[in-house]
Amino acid sequence: MSRTDLAALIKEQQAAYADLQARGLKLDLTRGKPSSAQLDLSDELLNLPRGFKDGSGTDVRNYGGLAGLTELREMFAELLWVEPEQVVAGGNSSLTMMRDCLIYLLLFGARDGDRAWGKEDTIKFICPVPGYDRHFTLLESLGIEMVTVPMHDDGPDAEAVAALVKADRSIKGMWIVPTYANPAGSICSQEVAARLASMETAAHDFKIFWDNAYALHHLTEEEAKSADILTLAAAAGHPDRPIMFASTSKITFAGAGVAFLAASEANVAWYLGHLGKGSIGPDKVNHLRHVQFFGSAQGVRDHMAKHREIIAPKFAEVDRVLSERLGGYDVATWNKPQGGYFVNLDVVPGTASRVVALAKEAGIALTPAGSSFPYGDDPDDANIRLAPTMPPLEEVTAAMEAVATCVLLAAAEQAQG
Ligand code: PLP
Repeated sequence: MSRTDLAALIKEQQAAYADLQARGLKLDLTRGKPSSAQLDLSDELLNLPRGFKDGSGTDVRNYGGLAGLTELREMFAELLWVEPEQVVAGGNSSLTMMRDCLIYLLLFGARDGDRAWGKEDTIKFICPVPGYDRHFTLLESLGIEMVTVPMHDDGPDAEAVAALVKADRSIKGMWIVPTYANPAGSICSQEVAARLASMETAAHDFKIFWDNAYALHHLTEEEAKSADILTLAAAAGHPDRPIMFASTSKITFAGAGVAFLAASEANVAWYLGHLGKGSIGPDKVNHLRHVQFFGSAQGVRDHMAKHREIIAPKFAEVDRVLSERLGGYDVATWNKPQGGYFVNLDVVPGTASRVVALAKEAGIALTPAGSSFPYGDDPDDANIRLAPTMPPLEEVTAAMEAVATCVLLAAAEQAQG
């Protein structure tokens, strides 16, 4: 762009930005929460359960059943492509199950380990980036160091992971969001999953935290099937390596759903052994409510299609506005996710924080730049996570128009120097 064109562009974007500020907007694209229209889809749960016994006659009002209601475990085993004996249905948060596993590992050690992780001087986890901010803050809170690897369209860079874990026995585990990753939207291929399941690790009690939070959250009719990590790991001789997590937080109620853990039967016994010291059983009334509400695994799939109808237009709108407003300039790239809850926007390196600050001053809350990286540190200051599910469609349009203005203004300012 010539200096004159650049000066004209800055002027134009400054004027657009002044208009934006004058509108006094108050929009929020920060957290990946379901909208109230999505929550309404599950309101029948508020009238359930009918009765208080499950199919086998268990009185769900009473204590017991630490692994969760059998019918719900069977339903989600089918959906997660595992066996019912490998599934635990728990409380309302899979993140809590992840934290519990980490704490058990630190305090007591893995089933296939010989001592508590906490006895080591240093513990490290591999974190594909960009990734889920709460994974990183959880590790940070426990003093676990983070080593980053790039996230590609087919999952984490498996060769980079394999080289790291082979060389360093303090690397005890890794995160992966295998399906419609937060925020990259990528889908871990069977080949990458097989490599992670079979790679040689210096730490023989290495764990893959396979967080399949978006396993069923398709945005198109082409529904990605997650790689079968438990079978791959068992076939490779490492049955206890993966621990899978999922929940109905973005299927029914984000605050009152059911979370699941799936792993080898031996790992399930390890987990329940520790869990049982602090719990006499989960909220089986909520489990029964969910069993009756869905009716079957197909009932869950049908329910997810209703979510898709509500949120797919919002994702399409993000893409439309960004394409129309930024398409002619070389200032940003973004993904067109096939599922999940996020759009991953990469702006001109060095300008992401400025874009977020400009948006904030104009009344649009964006997730802080860098939050998809450990310690909030995006070395390129380029990545911004957009979460379009919560606001109504017209607000998504207004917010994205505003984001486009901020991206252009920040890029033009930087080009001017
Ligand atoms: N895992 C991922 C990748 C997420 O994006 C989220 C929520 O945004 C969670 C886990 C939280 O799950 P839960 O509500 O089951 O604790």
